[in-house]
Amino acid sequence: MIFSLVERAAADPILGLTDAFKADKRTNKVNLGVGIYKDESGQTPILKSVKMAEAKLLSEEISKSYLGMEGVLAYNTAVQGLLFGEAHRVIQDKRVFTAQAPGGTGSLRVAAEFVMRHTPVRTIWVSDPTWANHQNIFSSAGLEVKQYRYYQAQTHGLDFEAMIADLSSANIGDLVLLHGCCHNPTGIDLNIEQWQQLADLCLEKSLVPLFDFAYQGFGEGVEEDAQGLRVVANTVPELLVANSFSKNFGLYNERIGAITVVGNDETQASNSFSQIKSTIRGLYSNPPAHGGLIVSTILADSGLKALWLSELQEMRERIGQMRTLFVQSLKAHGVTQDFSFISQQNGMFSFSGLTKAQVEQLRDEFGVYIVGSGRISVAGMTKTNMPVICKAIAAVLA
Ligand code: PMP
Repeated sequence: MIFSLVERAAADPILGLTDAFKADKRTNKVNLGVGIYKDESGQTPILKSVKMAEAKLLSEEISKSYLGMEGVLAYNTAVQGLLFGEAHRVIQDKRVFTAQAPGGTGSLRVAAEFVMRHTPVRTIWVSDPTWANHQNIFSSAGLEVKQYRYYQAQTHGLDFEAMIADLSSANIGDLVLLHGCCHNPTGIDLNIEQWQQLADLCLEKSLVPLFDFAYQGFGEGVEEDAQGLRVVANTVPELLVANSFSKNFGLYNERIGAITVVGNDETQASNSFSQIKSTIRGLYSNPPAHGGLIVSTILADSGLKALWLSELQEMRERIGQMRTLFVQSLKAHGVTQDFSFISQQNGMFSFSGLTKAQVEQLRDEFGVYIVGSGRISVAGMTKTNMPVICKAIAAVLA
């Protein structure tokens, strides 16, 4: 019996936490583990722009026939516009191709499978720390995962010199995983000069950036958050982007993202894209339509797009307010350590500096669930649960 040989898998560090949270009987429990946006009432609402696009689709859709391997064509064009801006040189030069894919995760996996099957590259560099699933996605595809230094615990800031030093030792062609914005889990991003310096290094050492762009619009804005990617795309001849609309369109369970390839010229990009499509054929044949149709419907309609941008702004601003309130409220609960760095971080998460033991105590004694690394989802905080959270943190720090 072959299944008798199978050992039980370890619980997923993030989704396993949600399972434990659901099983917890306490009524004042708070889940700040997984990165899901909650509004002030603690709900994860469907955006109005999405509902309106869905209503339109319901009345106008006439077929559920298969999509091609690359998904909804209008969606793929719209994705390129969001990523690069319509006038970007890679679009003018026709050096960019995009395929719809199932979420950011599916897009990253397609990228990794494509690289493994069609290039000699076997190594990817990821930041230390990074999103917990990166290791799993890339090693499942057969890539060796190496780490570059990124976070400096003492300053709660970026260790850019160490990042550059580590990446300087990478081999020609190695992939470098870069968070487009709102670095998960630290919330610390490169500034534009640092992006340029990093792009120059990639060019000099022939490293290939793979952007993981899961939070466009959650940092400073849709355009602002894409500046790093655009600077890099202006400098290096080839790169990959895996983007997700789970968070910025609130389309978590529609599994909607995209894999984009930029090549040195149109032929190289087009050849690579043909192999990306063939990789997709062997993985899931073609993507589900609904998420792609929602996003392309919204982006093609100036009214719906404006509504989406305002809804995204509202989410971004609410998280910003929660950051400020969190810092103030910790102080009010008697915490003397300086947590002001939390206000400087971008995106959904705050890298709190809480230890593994403190994280366990928060969960066991107070029903406050955060990831073992000390990453807190600020997007899950509300004015109502803030006192519970801060009282618990004050107690474990005392
Ligand atoms: N990359 C990062 C950095 C993420 O935080 C996430 C979601 N937590 C993803 C990719 C995956 O997104 P999706 O749910 O669309 O697969």
